[in-house]
Amino acid sequence: MKEILLCKYGEIVLKGANRRYFEESLCKTMRFRAKHFGNFSITASQSTLIIEPLDDMADLEGMFDSASKVFGIVGISRCAVCEKEMGDIVRTTLAYIPPFLDGKKTFKVEAKRSDKRFPLDSIAIAREVGGQILSALPRLRVDVHNPEIVVHVEIREHAAYVHAGQFKGAGGMPVGTNGKALLLLSGGIDSPVAGYMIAKRGVQLEAVHFESFPYTSERAREKVMELAREIAQYAGSFDVHVVSLTHIQEELVKACDEDYFTLLLRRYMMAIADRIAHRRGCGGLITGESLGQVASQTMQAIGVTDPLATLPVFRPCIGMDKEEIIKISRKIGTFETSIQPYEDCCTVFTPKHPRTRPELSKVIEQEKKLDFDALVEEALASATITHIRVEF
Ligand code: ATP
Ligand code: MG
Repeated sequence: MKEILLCKYGEIVLKGANRRYFEESLCKTMRFRAKHFGNFSITASQSTLIIEPLDDMADLEGMFDSASKVFGIVGISRCAVCEKEMGDIVRTTLAYIPPFLDGKKTFKVEAKRSDKRFPLDSIAIAREVGGQILSALPRLRVDVHNPEIVVHVEIREHAAYVHAGQFKGAGGMPVGTNGKALLLLSGGIDSPVAGYMIAKRGVQLEAVHFESFPYTSERAREKVMELAREIAQYAGSFDVHVVSLTHIQEELVKACDEDYFTLLLRRYMMAIADRIAHRRGCGGLITGESLGQVASQTMQAIGVTDPLATLPVFRPCIGMDKEEIIKISRKIGTFETSIQPYEDCCTVFTPKHPRTRPELSKVIEQEKKLDFDALVEEALASATITHIRVEF
């Protein structure tokens, strides 16, 4: 019996004239992933991608896991394929569905007929298939209101499909259909979640990580690359720029009032990120900031760093508390990596009394003690790029 995956679109359905573009982007992502799992055919039809293994070697299970991380898909079902003919539909149901009914007492059948030429309507299909299941498994009972399992029969363009329900897809929009943005990626919990959330809106990511070697270690950088690989499971491949802030931090320590270190450093980060974003054709920046979480994330502190960005800054975690952010971080698999205790450039040279209500004029007064533009250019010159691939 042949099994395939039916992947149902989410918001793309609403896209009207642009729909083809979204659909093609989705197919391209799926084809790229499918290559890793064997020989598959991938076709788009009636707001659904049909992923069909072309030989016995194709790893449908692996493909299922990978497809469940592709943005733009809201639901995935593993189905048995059959002829659009009642005899074959019943035979296939009775061969394919019983293992899903193990240990269950109640069920119902739901049929959908998108091919209106099929002679029976959905109610008649459901009744016929339901009756046959009851005859074959008399211990079961039909419960139309609260069944333990719903058996689906879908009569579509090219074939009929039988399955035992739909798993949740990743939702959102296909990556790349909504521009590109630069994620400021630290080793913490919040920024990977922020990257995931914006990628989910169809945005292709690129990332910048700031380090302060030797105050931060090689292991700290490797941890960030690991986070990037975890994000790439959803966001697809992307480049990570690593920029050294060592010299800037040493100069700040020498010249500026300690209370302002973090704010000044964050202004450098914003300025550097903004320049990288422009060079790389990004339309926005992404940070993991959450209002009031730490001294540098009060409204006033954000007000001091924000003006350095000429591009819009997306802060998807801004209204979330730590628990909500952690919940997403666990779901996407970055949490365990994020909590590994390595130093971050923000945690070296931290002031004892950081300013929580900084005045912009005072910050700028401090900043003038150094040649801001020259230090930014020097840091940019230190940047290296690592390409992060989707790992399977
Ligand atoms: P996270 O959990 O993401 O590290 P955080 O709560 O530790 O966030 P901060 O250290 O104040 O918060 O950083 C706020 C945001 O600034 C981060 O979410 C991230 O977007 C960016 N950021 C901080 N440190 C770095 C870094 N070393 N490299 C790149 N971006 C950084
Ligand atoms: Mg951090």
